[in-house]
Amino acid sequence: MIRASERAMGIEYAIRDVVLPARELEKKGIKVIRLNIGDPGKYDFQPPKHMRDAYCKAIQEGHNYYGPSEGLPELREAIVTREKRKNGVDITPEDVRVTAAVTEALQFIFGALLNPGDNILVPSPSYPPYVGLVKFYGGIANEYLTVEENGWQPDIDDMRKKINERTKAIAVINPNNPTGALYEKKTIKEILDLAGEYDLPVISDEIYDLMTYEGKHVSPGSLTKDVPVIVMNGLSKVYFATGWRLGYFYYVDPEGKLEEVREAIDKMARIRICPSTPAQFAAIAGLTGPMDYLDEYMGKLKERRDYIYKRFTEIPGISTTKPQGAFYIFPRIEERSKWKSDKEFVLDALNEAHVLFVHGSGFGYAGDWHFRIVFLPPVEILEEAMDNFEAFMRKRLGA
Ligand code: PLP
Repeated sequence: MIRASERAMGIEYAIRDVVLPARELEKKGIKVIRLNIGDPGKYDFQPPKHMRDAYCKAIQEGHNYYGPSEGLPELREAIVTREKRKNGVDITPEDVRVTAAVTEALQFIFGALLNPGDNILVPSPSYPPYVGLVKFYGGIANEYLTVEENGWQPDIDDMRKKINERTKAIAVINPNNPTGALYEKKTIKEILDLAGEYDLPVISDEIYDLMTYEGKHVSPGSLTKDVPVIVMNGLSKVYFATGWRLGYFYYVDPEGKLEEVREAIDKMARIRICPSTPAQFAAIAGLTGPMDYLDEYMGKLKERRDYIYKRFTEIPGISTTKPQGAFYIFPRIEERSKWKSDKEFVLDALNEAHVLFVHGSGFGYAGDWHFRIVFLPPVEILEEAMDNFEAFMRKRLGA
């Protein structure tokens, strides 16, 4: 047998791992309601028409060539305008890089920051690629606690305790996947203060920035004075174009501390050539175009959020925090005597209630004994899923 690398074989991705047992059931003709993947395009959400038109037009008009590694100048200009409007940041197109979605931005940033044995502070629970990609690049995902009782806000004292001489950056995911938390301005300021104290950059994942139900997103990029911040965003969530694989990041670095990291990232960007050219034309249309579609979509998502939250408050053996952003809910399994682990719980719910959730421990240690549900589908589908799940819980708990 030809051996694969340990680096690649070590990768885990809980969100897709649970699909295999679901497929087995589906092969037997059983309908499974899948609530595991955060893809709006699988339900009644599409990128707005002006973006779809711009994508097709770019292809028809011959924009099918390689572009610059850092992204098209017109798009970098549009990103600056969008981010000045949203975050009031003082940046120029020189500070912006276009990527094959936030996932590639993470690859660049971790690849450029980490030597073997270095660590990045990542939230627990956290979107799994943070742990997986940090490990892939030889680093250690140094998980800091976010506190459920406090609306899943980061625990600044825990963050401080986890920082050591090999820490290279603090990653913040806000609004958060999987918890749906929206961080308070005060929390963001405290994170910046801590980063400043230890001379660390902050990596800010803002892919859900305009997807909030209560309150508004605050970016560390908008509050920093001297701490370098790398802000990431893209088309996948707020612009509903997951499959186009387009994103970006930019540096807010008033004192130029990231000069070498920028050089390293540009080297990585050059060997992967460039992001998709026609998708960048669609991004220009999205970033400079009307946003009224978002009001309509957020209205639908809020109805679904309210519905699922209410249902979970009525199911025995479960407690849950109300998500304030993104499209995930992260309930806690209170009654634990019937299962050995949250994974066993999720598999039991799959086999018995035919609903597919993701076990919380797949998102890091603080996710243990929780599960994540995507509330993107219409209420009728959520209702069927919740009816099945409630019946399952009542049967298991005899309640
Ligand atoms: N960051 C977070 C917090 C996410 O939840 C996701 C996808 O679910 C991504 C990044 C991936 O984004 P992209 O599609 O831009 O790679």
